[in-house]
Amino acid sequence: MSDTIKCKLCGEIVERTNANQSYCKKCSDIHKRQWATQYYFARKAVPPKPAMQSLNKIAAEARSLGLTYGKYVALLNNGGLDDYLKHMKR
Ligand SMILES: [Zn+2]
Repeated sequence: MSDTIKCKLCGEIVERTNANQSYCKKCSDIHKRQWATQYYFARKAVPPKPAMQSLNKIAAEARSLGLTYGKYVALLNNGGLDDYLKHMKR
C-alpha cells in the first residue's frame, strides 16, 4: 500500500489517510453529495409497493371476501391470502 493516492476526481496526489481512500479531502465531500443525490433520485424512481394501494380499494376487496380490513391486510402480509381463498372455495 502506497502512502499517497491519486484523487479520482481532481487527480491530485494526496497523502493517504484511509485504506479505501479514493478521493482527496475536498473531493470526498463532493463525491458524498453526488452519491446522495443519485441515491435520492434512484429511490424516487422506484414505484410504490403494491401494498400502498388506496385504503378504500383494499377495504372494498376485504368486504367482497367477507373479511375485515385488519384480517385481510394480515393475510396479505403473511402471504396466507391464497390459502384462505382456496379454503373458501371448498
Ligand atoms: Zn480531489
